[in-house]
Amino acid sequence: MATHHRARFVVCHRDVIEDGVVSIDDGRVVAVGPHDAARHANAVDHGETALVPGVVNAHSHAFQRALRGRAEHLTAGQDDFWSWREVMYRMANALDPEQVEAVSAMAFLEMARAGITTVGEFHYLHHQPDGTPYDDPNTLAHRVIAAARKVGLRITLLRVAYGRAGFRKAPDPLQRRFIDSDVYRYLGAVTALDAAWRHEPRVEIGMAPHSVRAVTGKWLWSISEHQKIMKLPVHIHACEQRAELEACKAEYGRLPVEVIADEGLLNTRSSLVHATHLDRRALDLIEERGPSIVACPLTEANLGDGILPAGELLARRAHIAIGSDGQSRIDPWSELSQIENNLRLRHERRNVLAHHADERDGRRHTADVLWPMANENGARSLGLDCGALAPGHPADMIALDLRDPALAGTRAGTLLADLCLGMTPRAVRSAWVAGEAIVSEGRHPAEDAIVDGFRRVMGTLERGL
Ligand SMILES: [Zn+2]
Repeated sequence: MATHHRARFVVCHRDVIEDGVVSIDDGRVVAVGPHDAARHANAVDHGETALVPGVVNAHSHAFQRALRGRAEHLTAGQDDFWSWREVMYRMANALDPEQVEAVSAMAFLEMARAGITTVGEFHYLHHQPDGTPYDDPNTLAHRVIAAARKVGLRITLLRVAYGRAGFRKAPDPLQRRFIDSDVYRYLGAVTALDAAWRHEPRVEIGMAPHSVRAVTGKWLWSISEHQKIMKLPVHIHACEQRAELEACKAEYGRLPVEVIADEGLLNTRSSLVHATHLDRRALDLIEERGPSIVACPLTEANLGDGILPAGELLARRAHIAIGSDGQSRIDPWSELSQIENNLRLRHERRNVLAHHADERDGRRHTADVLWPMANENGARSLGLDCGALAPGHPADMIALDLRDPALAGTRAGTLLADLCLGMTPRAVRSAWVAGEAIVSEGRHPAEDAIVDGFRRVMGTLERGL
């Protein structure tokens, strides 16, 4: 029997339905439409709220939640991505399996409270701090999945392939927890992880060669062959930092996107994470092969990476998703606005991305371009069918409080603009995954325990970091 959820607004794709109803049966949406007193007599009435698809966070390193606030100072000279990475490595090496789970649960809890119902976890902590694999080489991956299950998020665990420090670089002892000895061992671990979670509907497995610097062409090719057979999503960091482009050119004689394409990994099941520094050839390849792009503008701003060329990508019909990446701030709504606002600052103009929107009511709306980045495009990037409140899709949805100061006064015609450019996590009142409530009245039932567990971990780390 279907359960009916009634709200002042229901958002189906880009349509805003006034006094709408979402009908859910067996964890899936079975109908969406205007409220009908006869058909929806027993509807749960959420009153002054908007029911919208839960946000898909397509790129996360959950353990980096422990790093927030701990790398925001200068020690000597100037700070950049590479010096930040040193601090991040020390954090990565300080956590035992239980602590990895506690920190991950904190990150996932904060995501759920911000309206995220699915996470793509780019997971690269595999081994013991000295590099010895645990008895089960997926011990830490299981811990991260357990954390997502504790919170109730849908998760795609993208197991990272890390083979080396970089081109002509001596092994870095701080990377020992990430590195698998060869690609076959890596693929064996992916297969075992996939088998272990095959029957859990909210857990999916994917692959993630870390970057073209962290694996060789042979690894990329082997992962591409495996992808063809297993049809798994593949994510890879690409073109985040300019220094990475130079190093790639020196080794391969080509830029990262070209290398990824030549090894068979640029396709509709693949995602380029960041894609900040793209030349014309890279943009053409993206148009031709159709990978997703995962932008993480709050992290990219925090790390000084650069600005996503979102206009050029949209001109080539790219599907852009968003990710919280380094967790310096978990706020998918600000990720959306930052993509547009970065371009306004750069070009000294307004509504830059609206040029790529179809005309509606005689206008082009910036939100029409940004909105799918928070839901449908993220689902595409992870190969999932969530991301839309429409019949047949999983009932992953959130209720937003229209009495919250951030949303008060909105109407059907402005709701998407308010969500993409003026929204705050505070207005998320409830969240459901597969029709099951994970956040109710702005709280998660395990919130106190998860926050206390995280605070305990941070208390023990305080001395070392
Ligand atoms: Zn990342």
